[in-house]
Amino acid sequence: MIVGAGVAGLIAATALARAGWRVEIAEVSPSRATSGWGLCLTGPALRALNELGLADACLAAGYGMTGITHVDVRGEPAGEVPLPRLLGAGQPGMVGIARPVLHRVLHAEAERCGVVVRHGLTVVAVDQDGELVRVRLSDGTARQVALLVGADGIRSSTRSLLGLKTSLDYHGQMVWRALVPRPRWATGIHHFAGMTDTAGLVPISTRQAYVFLTENGVEQSVLPEADLAPRLRQLLEPFPGRVEEIRPLVSGAESGAPSVVRRPVRTTFLEGAWNRGNGVVIGDAAHAPAPQMASGAALAIEDGLLLAQELERHESAGSGLEAFMSRRAQRCRTLVETSVAIAGLERAQRHHDAHPLVDACHRLMAEPA
Ligand SMILES: Cc1cc2nc3c(=O)[nH]c(=O)nc-3n(C[C@H](O)[C@H](O)[C@H](O)COP(=O)(O)OP(=O)(O)OC[C@H]3O[C@@H](n4cnc5c(N)ncnc54)[C@H](O)[C@@H]3O)c2cc1C
Repeated sequence: MIVGAGVAGLIAATALARAGWRVEIAEVSPSRATSGWGLCLTGPALRALNELGLADACLAAGYGMTGITHVDVRGEPAGEVPLPRLLGAGQPGMVGIARPVLHRVLHAEAERCGVVVRHGLTVVAVDQDGELVRVRLSDGTARQVALLVGADGIRSSTRSLLGLKTSLDYHGQMVWRALVPRPRWATGIHHFAGMTDTAGLVPISTRQAYVFLTENGVEQSVLPEADLAPRLRQLLEPFPGRVEEIRPLVSGAESGAPSVVRRPVRTTFLEGAWNRGNGVVIGDAAHAPAPQMASGAALAIEDGLLLAQELERHESAGSGLEAFMSRRAQRCRTLVETSVAIAGLERAQRHHDAHPLVDACHRLMAEPA
């Protein structure tokens, strides 16, 4: 039983089903719709997707890129960072992709492998009896399962039901994403340093890109939907150069759907074991980095793949889970801590110190998981 049909849940489900497990996912949202901004699949994400034969579908559905262009506060180029090409020299180092498109690819493969995805459902109680986990679901039914995987995101309720405690840290930043038509010059990631905030542009298809902006030194808050697009345009106003061209493209409605989202930068890292008996948490539920390294989904994808691999390698679920955690803990901790450090440097306007850290962390992540 997997809780959550996000990136971690769908990949774990596919990898486990291929290894012979019968897998059911309880997903709390009533439908498959995911909010409409994009994300970057970094080299490690593509490498893990490739092991499952899913990289080509993502490459075809997204936009392949080879580097990041940094632009300084005056709008002048401040360096190019080539991205490690983990799929081979002729392949892109990163792919920008719309979230709903990525989810369609992952859902289709999970279901093709026989995974049952139930929407509008969650786990409300967990009780362990030796090797078995008894779960009660929100529709009143119950299951006895050999493995419970909490892949239900940073605010995971599975984590609480398993008695695993962590803190969610807010870093004084709100991040914005808006879908816009892709300008012709946007063939890679552009990162724009600002006097107070930072911004950027990521292509996700030949037609579309998303603008991101990190708002520094603000309290967590929720703005009315109607205020999002005008406020984002206002925050982009101080940026010179190419941002002046992007700003009028932020309309709040791309393809008829609301396209501006604003989220707090929150992180967590679960110290100690990620499991209680045969119940384990993966993805953001165990380790959620700040979005500055664009790598949370990469870790979630790796988790799903490596969880299935370690369970297959070991006789018992217990020893498989232990091997999984010892393989994952340091890598995930490093990424979370580095992303927090980068967020701090951004807040302090120390962009020149942040760029080498981003570069070094991408190299580290390029090492085998
Ligand atoms: C603004 C922003 C930009 C980002 N950009 C990038 C990027 O470019 N590249 C990158 O690699 N990462 C990025 N990330 C991080 C990435 O989105 C996450 O790390 C990744 O989505 C984690 O996947 P997950 O499956 O663990 O969790 P989630 O994606 O949060 O999925 C959890 C799933 O569980 C479901 N769920 C929640 N609670 C329950 C419950 N109680 N019962 C059942 N189901 C439940 C949810 O509906 C959801 O479907 C970004 C994050 C943010 C906030």
